[in-house]
Amino acid sequence: MAQFKVAIVGAGPSGYFAAQALQNLATEECSFAIDMFERLPTPWGLVRSGVAPDHPKIKTVSKVFEKIANTQGFRLFANVELGKDLSLAELQERYDAVIIATGSPKGKKLGIPGEDLANSMSAADFVPWYNAHPDFAGITPDFSCDTAIVIGAGNVAMDVARMMAIAPHELDPTDTADHAIDALKKSSIRKVYISARRGAEFAAFTSPELRELPKLEHTNVRMSKEDIAQAIARVGDAIEKDTKSNLDAMTLIAENNDFPHERTMEFLFQHTPKAILGDEKVEAILFDTPTGEVKIECGLVVTAIGYFADGVEGVPVESGKVKNVDGKVAENLYVVGWAKRGPSGVIGTNKSDAAAVIELLVSNLSAPKNAADIKELLGDKKIVEQSHWEKINAAEVAAGEPDGKPRRKVVAIPEMLNIAHN
Ligand code: NAP
Repeated sequence: MAQFKVAIVGAGPSGYFAAQALQNLATEECSFAIDMFERLPTPWGLVRSGVAPDHPKIKTVSKVFEKIANTQGFRLFANVELGKDLSLAELQERYDAVIIATGSPKGKKLGIPGEDLANSMSAADFVPWYNAHPDFAGITPDFSCDTAIVIGAGNVAMDVARMMAIAPHELDPTDTADHAIDALKKSSIRKVYISARRGAEFAAFTSPELRELPKLEHTNVRMSKEDIAQAIARVGDAIEKDTKSNLDAMTLIAENNDFPHERTMEFLFQHTPKAILGDEKVEAILFDTPTGEVKIECGLVVTAIGYFADGVEGVPVESGKVKNVDGKVAENLYVVGWAKRGPSGVIGTNKSDAAAVIELLVSNLSAPKNAADIKELLGDKKIVEQSHWEKINAAEVAAGEPDGKPRRKVVAIPEMLNIAHN
């Protein structure tokens, strides 16, 4: 029987779905030994550090990841960084195939004046901050203002706006980082705008996310009836299914005139940011609108306008993605997920995407390499293997239990390693 060794770099959804696709293709004649490498001591990628904590259902996919990880032939090497602990060339030498699954962690910039003022930040920093990612624990959003503006009309903008606009006690039974719950409890922000540069018919929100907004228990959600009516008129009868579903959901929001709460989330359409104004820190945004320039005062700006792939040592990146043809990058090097196709689609999109790349990868395999085990290159590195991660996981779940949280996340890497190895 032939056994091929495959390395997957990145323990997020696309990495796990690539592993699952390999496991699904295993036969009696051909199997796969899968080693998954992850820079952090914790796996699950965006499911841990991206998905909004008030959306716990989306995170249940982690059960699928754990099943994949506990399938014979799978090994986790977390706390191992490509480019530092191992080189790409070393992986390519020792594995029959290497799959890059490192996502798109960097936030796109607006490129307008004032973007670098204090308290103007990217969702690429803000989201992992509230999700307890160790690299972002030190950022300190200042919530002492009464108004925040989130720029972008996608689901990430919606998550960010919702996290600031709901009553902070609603986050108590979630796995939001303790530091974020503490800061949001002290927040003076009572108004959160979401600004879209185009009309409502072009918004990238998905309708399930829009449909949950009227159910918020402590937040007014406002949309202008006129904005939505105009969008409906502009699209006319030749309307696509998803656009119709979105505009139907927006009509329901816009028809509500009852605003009893102290906190408000309001949508601004056809507002193109022109400059962020302020002396030392954010004071306002200047927008271009169909009726001219509009200045809106605010003390915090979060841009959620998309992401791009980070340079991974030795991996070619072009236009924010790893350069590839149908997932193939070079001889025995492949890419999946957002690093391959850009930051689009929901978590499940990565399943079909990875399956197609794995089919191509397997069709290109000939004879197994029979190279030495990678462990010998890692020396005394504190690797977090699956059994170690399970200790961190169990400790977090146990720590959350008394407060009714799904988990209380450990933030500091030394503490994670301590739990893993002691
Ligand atoms: P997205 O859906 O692509 O939305 C990006 C938004 O940024 C668009 O509205 C875009 O407007 C706007 N934008 C881009 N450049 C801009 C600029 N220079 N000025 C102003 N606005 C600008 O991206 P995302 O929100 O980052 O989400 C990424 C993917 O993750 C999406 O597929 C999303 O559905 C998914 N996601 C899903 C969930 C969920 O299922 N709950 C949660 C989070 C994310 P234009 O259209 O005008 O370019």
